[in-house]
Order: sequence, then C-alpha cells, then structure tokens
Amino acid sequence: MAILKRKKIAENTKEIDQLDGFSSPDKLLILAKNNNLELKPLDVESLIRLLGIGLRIHPMDEQKSGYIKLEEGRWVIGVNSLQHPNRQRFTMGHEIGHFILHKDQIGDGIEDTLLFRASGFGEPGIEKEANEFAAKLLMPEFYFKQEIERFQGDIKAISRSMKLSSMAVSIRAQHLGYKVKNEI
Ligand SMILES: [Zn+2]
Repeated sequence: MAILKRKKIAENTKEIDQLDGFSSPDKLLILAKNNNLELKPLDVESLIRLLGIGLRIHPMDEQKSGYIKLEEGRWVIGVNSLQHPNRQRFTMGHEIGHFILHKDQIGDGIEDTLLFRASGFGEPGIEKEANEFAAKLLMPEFYFKQEIERFQGDIKAISRSMKLSSMAVSIRAQHLGYKVKNEI
C-alpha cells in the first residue's frame, strides 16, 4: 500500500485553545512533552502512568483487545499481551480515549473486542470516538506528515516507524485527506 497525494486541506488544531484540562489528544501531547516523554513515537505507556492510571499487560482471549475499569477508586487499563505490540499501542491510546472522554458514561469500565470494523472506524459512538482519539494521539498531524514525506508514502515503512498497524496508518491517512492505494 502507498499513500498518494492529498485531496483536501488538513484538519486544524484550534481546538487546543478551546478545551480545558487534558480533554484533547493535543493537550495530552503537550503534557507528554512537558514531562520529557518520547513523542516520535509516543511513549504511550509512560503517558498512562503520568495520568495516574494503572497498566496491566497480560494474556486475554484472542478477540479481546483490552479494557479500562475502575478498581477501588483507581482506573486501570488492561491490554492483551497476545496481540502484536503495535496493536497494543493503539489499544492503549483507545483506552486513554475512553478515560478522557467517557469516564462518566462507562460506569465501572468497559471491555473492548474489535477496535476496527469493516467500515474503518465503526459505528458512531464512544468506540469511534476512542479510536479517533487514539489516532490523533499516536499519529498527530505534524508527525504523520513528516513520516509520509520521509518514507514517500510507504505505509509499511510508516507503520514500522510509528509502531502502529498498517491498518491504523492507512485509516489515519484517509482521515487526513490522503488517498490510499492498494498495490498488487
Ligand atoms: Zn472501546
């Protein structure tokens, strides 16, 4: 697969000024930067700890990606250790998305199975929102554009560099207005 030319202007980031706390991926990236975390690619495990969230990486049923749940007053993120490390990173971003966006909607927690559906980012709702949050957190536009130029649109190379799945990279590319071509 390869990423081809742009077809629209990129999303803007003026939401940074309009949101309080750490309610957006951009704000979390500023938090990460201020705490000297690696950004390219993001040290998402350290970010989870920085947010005061517990992290457990352990084997789960193969269709499960992870969870976030409240245990004795503390939020804990779990990630399926049997999935590819790149997939695990996206799961962490997804669960952070639930933590930031959906704490008031998910009761004691939520368990995630399929992050991606055939339609790309799935049905509207909290799963789609968490996926989009993860994509913006792990593939911020400025960094993503740099990687596209650096690797001349080679999705496999970009996904290796960003430590994410090819699927996550190609969906993000499409959301940013790039065309993705499947090569035979
Ligand atoms: Zn979810």
